[in-house]
Amino acid sequence: MKHFSVVIVGAGPSGLCLSYHLKEKGIDHIIIEKKEILHTWKNERWDSFDLVTPNWMTLLPETEKIIPKNNEFMSKNQIVNSLEKFAKEVNPNVLEHTVISNISLEDELYYIKTDKGNFTANNVIISVGLFNNKKIPLPEFDT
Ligand SMILES: Cc1cc2nc3c(=O)[nH]c(=O)nc-3n(C[C@H](O)[C@H](O)[C@H](O)COP(=O)(O)OP(=O)(O)OC[C@H]3O[C@@H](n4cnc5c(N)ncnc54)[C@H](O)[C@@H]3O)c2cc1C
Repeated sequence: MKHFSVVIVGAGPSGLCLSYHLKEKGIDHIIIEKKEILHTWKNERWDSFDLVTPNWMTLLPETEKIIPKNNEFMSKNQIVNSLEKFAKEVNPNVLEHTVISNISLEDELYYIKTDKGNFTANNVIISVGLFNNKKIPLPEFDT
């Protein structure tokens, strides 16, 4: 069973940022991604999508040259291109198309079971995004 100091679950912008900072600190880690790097941005946004946050708010490390800090709003293609460039810079150790079936903690060690093999880790960081599940308001809050 391969061991890592940190296992990150999810290779979206936050998983990539984590990988960037862990690399900087020389901490061994792997990202386990159920689909592909940046899956939600590549596949779960509509073509006419524009960010609702201006460029200056997108503060990913190493992206000063990629994303100008101005008041413009990136289109879907622009954000995907920028994030892909960022992913290339990070060059993460990532296992894509991998399904995690179980994570358990025993004696301060995490056991991660996947369909591509099992891992142990001292730390597990879940970075699977907050906004990907549909939330339907309860009827009493419907107007
Ligand atoms: C419609 C929409 C519009 C948005 N607009 C903006 C905006 O304008 N500005 C802004 O700053 N933010 C916006 N967001 C928020 C945006 O999701 C976050 O800024 C950013 O993508 C969060 O990055 P993340 O890495 O946390 O999550 P995500 O980008 O969602 O990445 C999560 C990753 O985890 C993977 N994953 C999920 N479950 C598992 C699992 N069980 N095992 C392994 N991998 C898994 C996914 O495949 C994905 O690759 C928007 C979100 C949505 C849905």
